Amino acid sequence: MFRPLKNLLGAYIDDPGQGVMVTTQRQLPVQRFTAAHELGHAALGHEASFDEEDVLTRALFDEGSRFDTREIQANAFATALLTPQWLIVQHMQRQGWARKELADPVVVYQLSLRMGSSFAATCYALLDCKGIDRPTCDKLMEANKKKRAIKQSLAKPYTPGNWYGDVWLVTERDNGMVLEGSHSDLVVVKVREHASSGYMWQFGELAEAGLAIREDGRESEGSQHIGGVVFRTVIAEADGGASGHVCLRELRPWQAAGTPLNSMELHVDLSGPVSAGLLSVQREALLEVA
Ligand SMILES: [Zn+2]
Repeated sequence: MFRPLKNLLGAYIDDPGQGVMVTTQRQLPVQRFTAAHELGHAALGHEASFDEEDVLTRALFDEGSRFDTREIQANAFATALLTPQWLIVQHMQRQGWARKELADPVVVYQLSLRMGSSFAATCYALLDCKGIDRPTCDKLMEANKKKRAIKQSLAKPYTPGNWYGDVWLVTERDNGMVLEGSHSDLVVVKVREHASSGYMWQFGELAEAGLAIREDGRESEGSQHIGGVVFRTVIAEADGGASGHVCLRELRPWQAAGTPLNSMELHVDLSGPVSAGLLSVQREALLEVA
């Protein structure tokens, strides 16, 4: 259950029955890690635990930590559940990221969004599976302090009302992806467009899912030559929440009913963080039992 907890990120309760409570006062990645940590206490047979901020952040992988072993175990459980090595490898293969690119804060940021994990937790997961070494991890953690600059570089030239939200850089490699984020996120869609053959990407379905288009531009790839490809960049804003299934198509406007040259599907749920109460799937399950 999600509650507006004071001074706690989450709790695991075992009496009278087992249950997990997660704060509503934090962003979605923190809620997810907290839930996984509390689930870890349950799965590992621990007694009740009330977890403050330092347990879920500082104790992450700290060797010789002053924290209770059970907290380190619960964090290890959460990391293995949310950011396992096979998932990191899968995202790298899909995006065409080489291992050396894991030193790039933009790459790690985009990886973290796709795993539903915070930037810091992603750095520690990469360190844990030896995707990066300790000095690289330290440099990335420094870059994390200037995350706003990373967001600005991705969202340029658009400036949102504030920078609380995340900035997703979506390309055709993300076809079929789930965008699960917060209600103030920006989505930057960057696709190749075969404009000289009359093809144009259609972005109308973004608005239907609640994503308002803020910028729409084109730039040529390299030298201008006939038959060249341009990059179309659209910046859309969730602006209070967006959800739905979006299918984007590259087609000739006068052949709108024809087969698209390219298409991309996205499942959008930009409604986080989770508000107080139960998740809708939990409510539905309880109603079915009743
Ligand atoms: Zn704990």
